[in-house]
Amino acid sequence: MNLRQALAAARESLTNIDEASLEGEIILRNVLGVSRAHLYSHLEDTLNHVQEKALKQALERRLRGEPSSYITGHHEFYGLDFIINHNVLIPRPETELLVEKIIEAVKKYKINTIADIGTGSGAIAVSLAVNLPGAKVYATDISSKALEVAEQNCKKHNVDDRIVLLHGNLLEPLIKNVDIVTANLPYVRKSDLQAQKELSYEPREALDGGRDGLDVIRNFCKQAGEKRNLFKSLFLEIGMGQSKQVIAVLSEIYPEGSIEVYRDMAGIERIVSLSLTQTRKF
Ligand code: GLN
Repeated sequence: MNLRQALAAARESLTNIDEASLEGEIILRNVLGVSRAHLYSHLEDTLNHVQEKALKQALERRLRGEPSSYITGHHEFYGLDFIINHNVLIPRPETELLVEKIIEAVKKYKINTIADIGTGSGAIAVSLAVNLPGAKVYATDISSKALEVAEQNCKKHNVDDRIVLLHGNLLEPLIKNVDIVTANLPYVRKSDLQAQKELSYEPREALDGGRDGLDVIRNFCKQAGEKRNLFKSLFLEIGMGQSKQVIAVLSEIYPEGSIEVYRDMAGIERIVSLSLTQTRKF
């Protein structure tokens, strides 16, 4: 079988998957370890038996429902390639909005310390460090296996000298005050988690927010309330329909704060930001 035939066969076998054409190509390229340019300029090359077998196995995993990012071990986020495995959530496109809003704030107000709580693969922390060369980032996670992945991504993108990885529950391991705290915590309702089969491949503790999806966010806010001067500004990712409750919790703890909500590309209220400076600065 040559590469042209393998590409056609991969795409064909994934026809019940939304982006069959793209995913077929990504899986084939990963099996061969080649770039897009290489693939399309070597379509007449032949696959050896090992490659054919690996392609078949990878396609079978995808057909059983496993996301292709776990099969390839990679996922693109904010224009950067991240190492991914089953110990971390696959970064979502809507989380790029969180990164974008923080980058805007940091550039505008020339601030430089950020903490990313529940960092997982480190996608948020690394994207911030790469795009903000003056920033120092603290990144916490309760899962040491997730932190191992985050560490690999810090090294891969040469920002391990500006990101400090901390093991522990939410804000607990953070002992220094920072300018901005950000977090994409688990916020999926338990019932939705059970209903969405595709989420079953991801770590439950990265998604499960309990009955109303807000258990972990409430714990986080409680900890934040106990560490009064920890941050000047907070950027939280939330799930659909959660903004009212999150705003209520935050304004109870910080009556002096000013709150803004940003919608994602699907029009869903996705980011809640809280500023504690007198005149809203960021
Ligand atoms: N946005 C993710 C999803 O809906 C959830 C991520 C999270 O819980 N933080 O699948």
